[in-house]
Amino acid sequence: MKLKGKTLCKLVKDEVLDEDLEGYKELLREPTHFCLKCGRACNDKKCLCKPEKL
Ligand SMILES: [Zn+2]
Repeated sequence: MKLKGKTLCKLVKDEVLDEDLEGYKELLREPTHFCLKCGRACNDKKCLCKPEKL
């Protein structure tokens, strides 16, 4: 997956989601954490710049 290693917060900001839309959807499935800074949810805390457990 191309998105691996980058935070979701940054990916959205850089508008590169279209490059791996399926990968992005995977990250949003059954989210376990959300970003305190951006408010985004993700199932991998490494994808968030300021992760907080849901
Ligand atoms: Zn963030």
